[in-house]
Amino acid sequence: LDEVKKIDPKIAQAIVDEQNRQNSHIELIASENWVSEAVMAAMGSPLTNKYAEGYPGKRYYGGCDCVDVVENLAIERAKELFGCDYANVQPHSGAQANLAVQFAICEPGDTIMGMNLAHGGHLTHGSPVNISGKYFNIVPYGVNDEGFIDYDKLREIALETKPKMIIAGASAYARAIDFKKFREVADEVGAVLMVDMAHIAGLVAAGLHPDPIPYADVVTTTTHKTLRGPRGGLILCNQEAADKYNFNKAIFPGIQGGPLMHVIAAKAVCFKEALSGDFKKYQQQVVDNAQALCSGLLNRGIKIVSGGTDNHLMLVDLTNFDLTGKEVEKLLDEAHITSNKNTIPNDPKSPFVTSGIRLGTPAVTSRGMNTEDMDAIAEAIALVIKGGEEKIPQAREIVQKLTEKYPLA
Ligand code: PLP
Repeated sequence: LDEVKKIDPKIAQAIVDEQNRQNSHIELIASENWVSEAVMAAMGSPLTNKYAEGYPGKRYYGGCDCVDVVENLAIERAKELFGCDYANVQPHSGAQANLAVQFAICEPGDTIMGMNLAHGGHLTHGSPVNISGKYFNIVPYGVNDEGFIDYDKLREIALETKPKMIIAGASAYARAIDFKKFREVADEVGAVLMVDMAHIAGLVAAGLHPDPIPYADVVTTTTHKTLRGPRGGLILCNQEAADKYNFNKAIFPGIQGGPLMHVIAAKAVCFKEALSGDFKKYQQQVVDNAQALCSGLLNRGIKIVSGGTDNHLMLVDLTNFDLTGKEVEKLLDEAHITSNKNTIPNDPKSPFVTSGIRLGTPAVTSRGMNTEDMDAIAEAIALVIKGGEEKIPQAREIVQKLTEKYPLA
């Protein structure tokens, strides 16, 4: 940071402030994590200087020998980690990976079925404000009154609308996804099945969530959530689908220019870490912690959508309390707990206000926290939800104890 300080003290200060914020707050945003120093170092390496349009061995620039080594390692490790025979490690983000797959398989105007954003889906699965919703005819599916994906209704909608593609995967869904059922529906209506496993990729890699690879025609993911790598995207499938749809061409030159070689190096490091036994233990702890946090909240009278969690996250239903998600996000922030407001299924409130908050355990687990600590966090959250402003100092005390016990490197 000294170099940044010399050239640009304002940016250096903002980085230090952010580091201090991360250190002094409990991070419960389900899509965030803390990368290892090795991942961080690869991202801040001289590879950022290199242009490498194209793919290993077929570049549009000279001097790509070293970055070819990097990209080939990233590809091989991704394939090994997820047990498939094609990987594209170039997507700059999860949104880019999704767009490339939709661009490769569908024509503008084609029908795509994706999970309703208000029921836990992602913007890129067909929100009207996203390119997916503007270019394709989107037919949403959702969850039942208990908060579980309604597979019968999904099948009904698919039979009625005959989508070209069905997208499984979510941003705010706490239950295991039955990819086999999605496959059956896709086969019945002749649709391509795309699985976006961005949130659960780390759990899938560790064998703690059903694996989409055997069922999906193509799988996309981010690399920075439970997978604990750099911010970025990834496309996975078997060679037959890769040849049929040419995902390489859809990424470059389809929707991107030069790959971010420093980020691809960091992805390679992340995949190596994810292939280790320690990573499995980490993911198990993520799930154990989510269960503990969930029980801690339920025991304190706080409602959880679907009554529990099978993965790393949960959706708190605030309708029992006279509070919106927006208000609770702000109150928790004052108590130094970071979360995000989130709509709950059939939410009467807008996505800017909401009746819920989403909580996740990947980041606190990376920090070393265990199930006992989750109970303490549940206590702090319950204090804030039930007691409002008045209880913030008490909640902050709990947070301070925990953050001091688990300092960040
Ligand atoms: N897919 C899912 C399921 C997500 O939850 C997200 C991000 O939250 C994305 C895709 C998009 O990823 P990115 O922010 O890297 O574009």
